Amino acid sequence: MRVLKFGGTSVGSTEAIAQVAQVIAREREQDPEVVVVTSAMSGVTDMLIRAAKAAAAGDEMPYREARNELLVKHQIVAGQLIEDGIERAAIGHLLDEKLREFERLCQSIYVLGELTPRGLDVVSSLGEQMAAPLLAAVLRSRGIPATHVDAREIVVTDDTFGAANPLLEETCRRVQERIPALLAEGVVPVVTGFIAATREGITTTLGRGGSDYTASILGACLDAEEVQIWTDVNGVLTADPRIVPEARTLPELSYVEAAELAYFGAKVLHPKTILPAVEKGIPIRVRNTFDPEGPDTRIVREPRPAGVPVKAITAIRDLALITVEGRGMMGVPGIAARTFGAVARTGVSVLMISQASSEQSICFVIPAADVDKVIASLQEELERELRRGFVDHIASMRDIVIIAVVGSSMRGTPGIAARVFGALGEAGINVIAIAQGSSEVNISLVVADTQADEAVRRIHAAFELERVAELWPVAEAG
Ligand code: ADP
Ligand code: ASP
Ligand code: MG
Repeated sequence: MRVLKFGGTSVGSTEAIAQVAQVIAREREQDPEVVVVTSAMSGVTDMLIRAAKAAAAGDEMPYREARNELLVKHQIVAGQLIEDGIERAAIGHLLDEKLREFERLCQSIYVLGELTPRGLDVVSSLGEQMAAPLLAAVLRSRGIPATHVDAREIVVTDDTFGAANPLLEETCRRVQERIPALLAEGVVPVVTGFIAATREGITTTLGRGGSDYTASILGACLDAEEVQIWTDVNGVLTADPRIVPEARTLPELSYVEAAELAYFGAKVLHPKTILPAVEKGIPIRVRNTFDPEGPDTRIVREPRPAGVPVKAITAIRDLALITVEGRGMMGVPGIAARTFGAVARTGVSVLMISQASSEQSICFVIPAADVDKVIASLQEELERELRRGFVDHIASMRDIVIIAVVGSSMRGTPGIAARVFGALGEAGINVIAIAQGSSEVNISLVVADTQADEAVRRIHAAFELERVAELWPVAEAG
């Protein structure tokens, strides 16, 4: 049994959905038991969120326009790919119902002038609620028995709206009750990605890009042989191809490397995707919907060849560097603990800590959107030290990017850091902060937003990652 997840671009148009149907048909020839997970059509989740935010800000137009646009977008696919009149009418009815719900929700957001995280999850869940029934109907019209499954009935989470955490035991119980029975009847379950619900049935989402996570949760619950993430690129590449056109497919990656890449901005995988797969050792394969025979990536426990020091370069944007500085800080016990305690109380997560050896400053990186909240909390916590001059200032620097160099056994390979910094020095790129830490798999550094793309390209070139296939050919299995 395999789980196949299709991302937004894979279901983004009539042509793409037709291609997805073909991929599913072909995969079923190899193993008839497939579970499909689908994202919303590309751009839909963004549109829903924009409209809801505009409604909260007092603008009704965007949601009225979005309603029409969304109807047309889905109906075009139904009109072109579903031959049966009754099926087409049923989809038309469902779209109408979902979009009416969308309008009602936006109307009340508009009246209240407020959009809560809980409300936002309900609105943003609608894209998958339309895409899954549509894809299931397209599959049926191609002779593949299929039925859509609303993940809110099987994926149970806590109530951290916008980034809910699955309650695995309860989820697996429900998944096992529902999915194997469909498979036994030869039916393909088409499950909504990204969306879930609390025990009480309140809609939640797993975070942007969360359909990947849905796929690996289902894969773990069903003990799948493989989880396949079907997207618009040939697997995980040595860098984002939009930044580095020479980037190449990485044939194999370890779970740790993949998790690190995803965490540091490789959008191709949601950062939490790896978690459920690791425990059961389920391989994750990243494949291109539009090039199914082309190169792809397998994420496994022990990738071949072992010990490749540098595999990929990623960048994570929209960040800010916070510095707490003061010559008197050395004498104040526990100041680092109090600093991070103050950050933790805001609920903001720290992406990177860079410690100067002088102990006269502490600096760390957080999402730019959280700067004001974090600074206020720090000022409150360190109020006495600031007044007495032990701490000179708490500063923030916006428009920075973390670049991460990811691979294995970096510590055991001399000269990696020198090569990274040499490449950046040659290009005149200023490194604002470094965190090498004890991690075997990652060196991360901070540069200005304006220099980030160039930094990624320079480091990519310095390690000749465009030659990945020649440098580290994957040994034949067996
Ligand atoms: P989907 O809609 O299928 O979930 P996403 O847009 O979420 O697809 O992720 C795929 C995109 O991730 C690619 O189009 C690519 O631009 C981007 N990306 C960023 N870093 C990498 C990388 N290292 N390898 C592959 N793709 C990457
Ligand atoms: N549709 C959701 C999003 O755009 C989930 C996903 O694409 O994985 O974030
Ligand atoms: Mg994605």
